[in-house]
Amino acid sequence: MNSQSYQQLPENCSQGNPGQEGIIFEIRNLKKYYPVLAGFFRKTVGWVKALDDVSITIHAGETLGVVGESGCGKTTFGKTMMMLQHPTSGELLFHFPEGKRDLAKLSSKELMPFRRKVQMIFQDPFSALNPSKKIFDSFDEPLRVHGHEDPKERKETIVRNLEMVNLSADYMYRYPHEFSGGQRQRICIARALCIGPEMVICDEPVSALDVSIQAQVLNLMKDLQRQLGLTYVFIAHDLSVVQYMSDKIMVMYLGKIVEMADSISLYEMPRHPYTQALLSAVPIPSIDVKKKRIILQGDVPSPIDKPSGCAFHPRCRDAMDICRRIEPEFAPLSDDPSHFIACHLYGKTSGESEPTRKGKA
Ligand code: SF4
Repeated sequence: MNSQSYQQLPENCSQGNPGQEGIIFEIRNLKKYYPVLAGFFRKTVGWVKALDDVSITIHAGETLGVVGESGCGKTTFGKTMMMLQHPTSGELLFHFPEGKRDLAKLSSKELMPFRRKVQMIFQDPFSALNPSKKIFDSFDEPLRVHGHEDPKERKETIVRNLEMVNLSADYMYRYPHEFSGGQRQRICIARALCIGPEMVICDEPVSALDVSIQAQVLNLMKDLQRQLGLTYVFIAHDLSVVQYMSDKIMVMYLGKIVEMADSISLYEMPRHPYTQALLSAVPIPSIDVKKKRIILQGDVPSPIDKPSGCAFHPRCRDAMDICRRIEPEFAPLSDDPSHFIACHLYGKTSGESEPTRKGKA
């Protein structure tokens, strides 16, 4: 059975309630598979399941955090949401003023209004800006592409956006190499915002920056969200950063969501053994609080040949026999219907009646 299918989600869950007020993006049963080619004739011998049946609803003005180790599918999730990669299957329902449309069914031309409404900030501000172009040109081109024909108006927009990220308007006549990493990421943020998006997908936006600069950029992003009413999808491997930024968090493992809850509930009481292990590695800024670190054994398995049953079972300290045989459903916790999890310790199993430990913290 499909562990994360949209049809299984209850109506009181924010994940899966089409037509509900304030929804900006609904993602339904999203899959992104890459073929594995081999031999002289480049035959397909398998599939890398980078995204395997992901469903989530994003509300306007909220920040959805996406966490997981490298290779869990979070960057593929961001790129597929942006339609930088075409999904293998599933629906990407973006809510336009005139109604929702499935992005996967639109042509490049029909996607232009979506591209005005959703922008992306990438991890590496050093490669995101063309080193041979002045900052002015890096801003001017997307503005022209998106229909801003008046040069004076374009220049005013560039000035306004640079000042919005606390940079001098004079910087528009400089080249990227003249700036520090933090300044470059501010420039990238200003460029993403200059065409007036409603939503920004941020893929590890501070991980390439010095720790001292990270907080400044994160606070700037929060201020901009408040001022402009932006919706963020915030992808990161640093859980303390994601906690600071997010309202709702989804934890991914091998292309699937394994746990999803509001930020406070997930950080105060993580339920999935994978989330518990990830969070045990986050330092607590207090000498009075001691935390036991859970060491995850081994690396993330290959997405070409996923383990049977629960894909996390080879690394899980709580694994039971059923975990090796049957994939757990992604379902709400009985004691917290807004907290979703895919784990046999808590949920129903498909056709089996082995005892489970519901409500284990
Ligand atoms: Fe661990 Fe089993 Fe839960 Fe998977 S289903 S996380 S193996 S206890």
